[in-house]
Amino acid sequence: MLARWDVGYIQEKVKRARYAVDQEALRRYFPTGKAIDFALAVSEALYGVKFREAKVEAWHPDVRYFDVLDAKSGAFVSGFYLDLYPREGKYGHAAAFPIRGASSLARRAPLSALVTNFNRQGLDHDELETLLHEFGHVLHGVLSKTVYVSQAGTSTLQDFVEAPSQMFEEWARREQSLALFAKVCPECPRLSRDQIAQLDAARKYGRGSRYARQWIYAAFDMELSTNPRPPLEVWKALESQTPLGHVEGTLFPASFSHIASSYAAGYYGYMWSEVMALDMLSAFKDDLLDAKVGARYLDSILSQGGQREPRDMVKAFLGRDPSNEAFFAEITGRR
Ligand SMILES: [Zn+2]
Repeated sequence: MLARWDVGYIQEKVKRARYAVDQEALRRYFPTGKAIDFALAVSEALYGVKFREAKVEAWHPDVRYFDVLDAKSGAFVSGFYLDLYPREGKYGHAAAFPIRGASSLARRAPLSALVTNFNRQGLDHDELETLLHEFGHVLHGVLSKTVYVSQAGTSTLQDFVEAPSQMFEEWARREQSLALFAKVCPECPRLSRDQIAQLDAARKYGRGSRYARQWIYAAFDMELSTNPRPPLEVWKALESQTPLGHVEGTLFPASFSHIASSYAAGYYGYMWSEVMALDMLSAFKDDLLDAKVGARYLDSILSQGGQREPRDMVKAFLGRDPSNEAFFAEITGRR
């Protein structure tokens, strides 16, 4: 009989047997500098901007800096730093940091930093997705045209802030957008259609249980906030209803730190922003490089920061009310 503690192990074994992807071998496909060029090329194709590297003083010799320019007029829009490689004492994850928020009122141009700990030689495919995800946050900051700084860039409601970046990950997954990689690096090996399909299958494997787990975390968070009782009691009641049940003696609530940090009743936002991300992505249909859709997205969502309600922004972009249809199509394998 399968016990709850076996699930991760068994899943990993099945995943390796069925969808073996040697991520290490993919680093040759995505040399780090070229991966940056790829992220910039995608952004230029979509958002009517150009990037120009400039020499500026920064906090470490590794750090690069780029101006963001309007592609048509050449006018300066904003800027960002890239601090890509690990070093002693540096922040250990990948993240985007807004340094200065936009304000049209105060004529403030935004400035952001992308901080990662990438391998100097190349990225694996997961890291290519991470790059687009985090660069998505940078774009949210530096393409912001908000009136007030307090509403600039990623200062949106918490259950929407991940949506633009979750959506942007898709550009690392499709054959059409990945073709741009060959343009920025003609000498790099190219992923075959089969390899792309394999990566996608590996990514999708096990997501039924993953989403079910996310749902129960969100329900737990919501229940504690709306009907406070001893956490373990609430958790036991919820987990007992799952196929693998609750394991007596385990204390999941004690390790679920999100709730004690800033998430209170907001944990659902992880999944909710995916609902929005997939709904927005559906507007691009089969053409991820459609500059018209990109321009509309920039105008109605990216540039707006938190100065409008997410629902209104998404509605303006899609021309209809937001819907969870794309999300359910995704998690039931119909996309
Ligand atoms: Zn993020």
